[in-house]
Amino acid sequence: MARFIEISTSELETFFNGIANCCEANGDTSYWETQGSEMVFGLVLMSRQNLGAFVPEIKIYTTIAKGASTVRGCGKDAIRIVVGASLESGFKPCAKSQKLLRTAPAGSRDDRVAAFFDRFKKALRAAYKAAATIEACPRCGRPMAQRKSKANGGSLFLGCTGYPACKTTKSL
Ligand SMILES: [Zn+2]
Repeated sequence: MARFIEISTSELETFFNGIANCCEANGDTSYWETQGSEMVFGLVLMSRQNLGAFVPEIKIYTTIAKGASTVRGCGKDAIRIVVGASLESGFKPCAKSQKLLRTAPAGSRDDRVAAFFDRFKKALRAAYKAAATIEACPRCGRPMAQRKSKANGGSLFLGCTGYPACKTTKSL
């Protein structure tokens, strides 16, 4: 059973430095910002800025407490990965956020930490892929976001983030 593992702030920061270097090599950029008591790591897909009205972006709510050398809380306090797009008006999430609990199967601490970061990398790869494939609305150019329909058994579709001004939808 996967159990909670204490990941240190410095371990997480080392991981994010690696991601920052990797995205720079891809022509992307990264930044840190704070939201409430939490440090947020952002990944801006400058390599996809050809979309015009927006740039795909990934925000990672790291659980690192602002101004402290610890992660916030424990157990259920998950790292959240949000795929979206930055527009002139701000950041728009374009998919349901992914939650990553700081857990790993039993074993030595080294093995558990390695397993956690492997999982983190996989989640980030999936997020990067999702961000890189965000489409522009054919009518207004704003990003299209994944939505869940109220009818049709909650099936997923793409809807324009300009809603209600723009009601463009596309089936998935
Ligand atoms: Zn639109």
